[in-house]
Amino acid sequence: MKLYEYEAKQILQKYGLPIPKGVIISSHKEVVSAWEKLCGNVVLKAQVLVGGRGKAGAIKFPESIEEAKQLAQELFSMKVKGLPVARILVEEKVRIKRELYLGMTFDRSLKRFVIICSPMGGIEIEEIAMSHPEAIKVIPIDPFIGVRPYHAMEVCKHLKLKKENYKELSAILFNMYKAAMDHDAELIEFNPLVLTEDGKVMCVDARLNIDDNATFRHMELVSEERMKYELSDEEIEARKYGLSYVKLDGDIGILGNGAGLVMATMDMVNLYGGKVANFLDIGGGASKEQIEKGLSILIKDPRLKVLLVNVLGGITRCDEVAKAIVSTIEKFKIKIPMVVRLVGTNEELGREILEEKGIHVLSDMEEAVKKAVELAKVS
Ligand code: GDP
Ligand code: MN
Repeated sequence: MKLYEYEAKQILQKYGLPIPKGVIISSHKEVVSAWEKLCGNVVLKAQVLVGGRGKAGAIKFPESIEEAKQLAQELFSMKVKGLPVARILVEEKVRIKRELYLGMTFDRSLKRFVIICSPMGGIEIEEIAMSHPEAIKVIPIDPFIGVRPYHAMEVCKHLKLKKENYKELSAILFNMYKAAMDHDAELIEFNPLVLTEDGKVMCVDARLNIDDNATFRHMELVSEERMKYELSDEEIEARKYGLSYVKLDGDIGILGNGAGLVMATMDMVNLYGGKVANFLDIGGGASKEQIEKGLSILIKDPRLKVLLVNVLGGITRCDEVAKAIVSTIEKFKIKIPMVVRLVGTNEELGREILEEKGIHVLSDMEEAVKKAVELAKVS
């Protein structure tokens, strides 16, 4: 889950991170009082859940109150990479000497958090990784030891900061790590972290992403609005029914039960030269209604040439799956070919229901995948 810059900053400020003073506004009229509060030295930052706002013209530097009003109005009526602007963060303008990059993220292969820093800030880190990989330093944090002063030394050195900034950096790293732990963060990023004209370090931009598997611990941050920006309509629909849906760019749809089985099915489709358009995981023990819903979400996609159902019945019953397939075909008058592999609990019953309707059921996964790929090629 991605947080807006202003939300991330509100949280991180509480951890003592050096965030510029700011006022969040949701109408251009409020810009006047924000301007006054910040003594007329402001930057206007459109709040959208995408990066690269600077380049997209969504960060403005008004010189007068009149200009501030006009630019705020402009920002509220624009779309940034397709996203509407509901709020603007009016922030004290920082006098920047150098832009740096500082991030903390979880490295799954190292099984620990890592600090990522680069003296080249204000540019997307992925871009730097491509053009100047040597500029990026990654420093793992031992979970049993946490952030220690020597981490700050290493970061300072890499960022070419002077000794005077060492204490600030040390506190920033320590507090970032604490905030990351408390919020189950996947990423905390300051891009740019800046060295100001008067020699201080400040977090000019901030990002805080929360691990989706931990959102239940941070429900105060979950909102309908965020769901709408983060998820596609199909994903929201699927979630409502306790299903997970993912859209890809091929032409074969997959419905399966369990993430492992669905992933394996997808791998096998790729292995045999097919491409997956979308997949839906109905999880364990799905009801007929849930499966119907899942199928209807998949088949809405006009790119679909074949639908491959791969179910390994355990707590999911094959007869429920079969009934759902039959009723969905009838309801939506599905014309695209369907390949069904069904084994496990109530397999015989499921098979009967489907074969009665002329749908052939396979029990071998490889055979089913090969057939789906073949059908996608000819249709
Ligand atoms: P992003 O483009 O969405 O990542 O938005 P940022 O908040 O990172 O702002 C983009 C760029 O605008 C930064 O890299 C800075 O160059 C500039 N910028 C943002 N805030 C300030 C500020 O307070 N003072 C100055 N001088 N420049 C700023
Ligand atoms: Mn940025």
